Amino acid sequence: GEGERLQKVLAKAGVASRRVAEELIEQGRVEVNGEIVREQGLRVDADTAIVRVDGVRVVVREEQVYLALNKPKGWQSTMSDELNRPCVGDLVAERVMAGQRLFHVGRLDADTEGLLLLTNDGDLAHRLMHPSFQVSKTYLAEVDGEVHRGIGKRLKAGVELDDGPASVDDFQVLELGAGKSLVKVVLHEGRKHIVRRLLAAVGHPVIALVRTNIGPVALGDQRPGTLRVLGRDEIGKLY
Ligand code: URA
Repeated sequence: GEGERLQKVLAKAGVASRRVAEELIEQGRVEVNGEIVREQGLRVDADTAIVRVDGVRVVVREEQVYLALNKPKGWQSTMSDELNRPCVGDLVAERVMAGQRLFHVGRLDADTEGLLLLTNDGDLAHRLMHPSFQVSKTYLAEVDGEVHRGIGKRLKAGVELDDGPASVDDFQVLELGAGKSLVKVVLHEGRKHIVRRLLAAVGHPVIALVRTNIGPVALGDQRPGTLRVLGRDEIGKLY
């Protein structure tokens, strides 16, 4: 059936080890939805069950999931789309268990490719999106024109945009080509279209944009449309 074995649910909630949880069950100290359970291995829906040990409510936490997605260009970064356009929700559908709610942490423009974090850890999602939490994000942008030396200085000093000043933490020209350049931009803010607006403001409209890093998480060689489970170390550093 659905759900997880009661002793595992108790263990995950930090009540006791699985073995000790089995003893608690045997001793008749565990209640599920108001009834004492003595059967080992009863399956419990961790989202809805009310579990008590010795009459004390146990907070049953759903297992936390942290994923890195390389969002392909042309996809909405939302979990569903009113207009039925392709969206991230479609890409993760197979990875999401019944009843699990994943949040996308921030957004990328449909036209932008790259790293998007997904989690059911609402706390983390909130904190990462909050302006006071200054996680830096790195973008590679192909831009119009030859980017000369002064541009990085201007961007770091700050540029006036429609909705106030904005600046970058780091800027590097990686390639200069005929009529276009490849640049790397590091910044920690998240206003809408911020990278496109900043680069347009200094005379270099964006042709293509990819987000490669969010704080300690790097896209690496992860291909567009693929998901990767974040490592413990990455999650630890995000907090
Ligand atoms: N800045 C942009 O302009 N677009 C994005 O998708 C992200 C940052």
